Amino acid sequence: MTARILVVDDVEANVRLLEAKLTIEYYDVLTCTDGATALSLAEAEQPDIILLDVMMPGMDGFETCRRLKADPSTKHIPVVLVTALDGRQDRIKGLEAGADDFVTKPLDDVVLFARVKSLVRLKLVMDELREREESGRRLGVTSDGAGRLRATGGRVLVVDDNPRQAEQIIAELSREHRASVEPDADAARRAATGPLDLMIVNVTAESFDGLRLIAHLRSAEATRSLPILAVVDPDDRARLLKALDLGANDILPRPVDPEELAARARTQVRRKRYADFLRQKLDYSLEMAVTDALTGLHNRRYMAGQLADFVRGSNRGGGSVAVLMIDIDHFKAVNDGFGHDAGDEVLTEFAVRLATNVRAVDLPCRIGGEEFVVVMPDTRLEDALLIADRIRRDVAAAPFRVMGSEHLSVTASVGVAASTGENDTPEALLKRADEGVYEAKSRGRNRVIARAA
Ligand code: GH3
Ligand code: MG
Ligand code: MG
Repeated sequence: MTARILVVDDVEANVRLLEAKLTIEYYDVLTCTDGATALSLAEAEQPDIILLDVMMPGMDGFETCRRLKADPSTKHIPVVLVTALDGRQDRIKGLEAGADDFVTKPLDDVVLFARVKSLVRLKLVMDELREREESGRRLGVTSDGAGRLRATGGRVLVVDDNPRQAEQIIAELSREHRASVEPDADAARRAATGPLDLMIVNVTAESFDGLRLIAHLRSAEATRSLPILAVVDPDDRARLLKALDLGANDILPRPVDPEELAARARTQVRRKRYADFLRQKLDYSLEMAVTDALTGLHNRRYMAGQLADFVRGSNRGGGSVAVLMIDIDHFKAVNDGFGHDAGDEVLTEFAVRLATNVRAVDLPCRIGGEEFVVVMPDTRLEDALLIADRIRRDVAAAPFRVMGSEHLSVTASVGVAASTGENDTPEALLKRADEGVYEAKSRGRNRVIARAA
């Protein structure tokens, strides 16, 4: 898993050193020595990660970071701040500026690579979500911006068997989040399947194996994307690295610094909210892309895709697929006499009668104004004809209520066709059904005509 990394440091020697180290690990490295150049490079080159020195003349690392995070074209790129060893205030200020992580000088290679790797992994997931959202938008689905995603009010579970440490963490978190403690790892695993924005796991716990818990959470479907903060002993490098390797999103060194805890928790909660937001929008876009907004039936796009699949199956010796093409009679008169809204009500009620008269495996679709199609897998022409007539009768039998009281009598003309199983095409099938509709209209409407191939 390689990545492009932008290294920003005003000291040329530092840049060269980092460049050399990262290149040896097969990363693709871009460099520059000031904040302003970093902003334009980030925008033009879209690196996967930015390693940003805090102390620079002119625009310092904090300001550069703030601007990167304020620009829609760069805000998604993880920023790792490089700070002085004892720069606790720097780290907190950096996280406030929107930095995703920080490492201290002099750089510890192993920690650096572990953090870069975990950020690259996260970015891959985020990129994929953003990409899918983008394609949803191209399909013509409107979407609102994320706005400012809140980083507070998160549901946090602290898994810790050390009462004093847990109490301290909870006290700090409770200022901004809803936090609770669970001293038992098995109970924590069960709790994690509920609504949760962040889990903080003490991997130095004595009564349970924190690393094992992290591994469990990462392998279970329900908790795969739950952010995890691992509480570690900074001297126990093996465990620290193992925690990151197993999928902890970030680490919190002991003794836990309250402000660092608050800032890291906020970063994780914001990230979770962003991922949730994208996922939710994605579900919505996917649904909108295949659904007719007025009636809730499938739309033409979905119908076309499904029909093509069924016809292909039928040509390969599978069951015959039947198609009903249905057109409401004199629908224009409804609009003209009662208004467009009344017309819409008729369409909605029509969809209900259609959907309630077909099997669960059939696909009722609205393909245009007052034109509907039902795709029926594994159905022969004779059976489709019977179903079509049942629909026709059900529509004609009872008047439609519109505008709360008017009772309108509505009828429809139906064309029926079924695949032949020999080089048939969706287009030919739909054309035969359409010819059926045409004939039904010309023979007086409110009738069903089947067209054999
Ligand atoms: P025929 O029996 O020959 O099918 O006559 P018709 O009036 O149903 O057919 P025509 O195709 O002439 O008119 C269809 C009408 O459907 C015209 C259009 O204004 C109306 N229409 C199309 N989409 C909608 C819609 O979403 N809502 C409403 N209310 N009307 C629609
Ligand atoms: Mg029509
Ligand atoms: Mg019509």
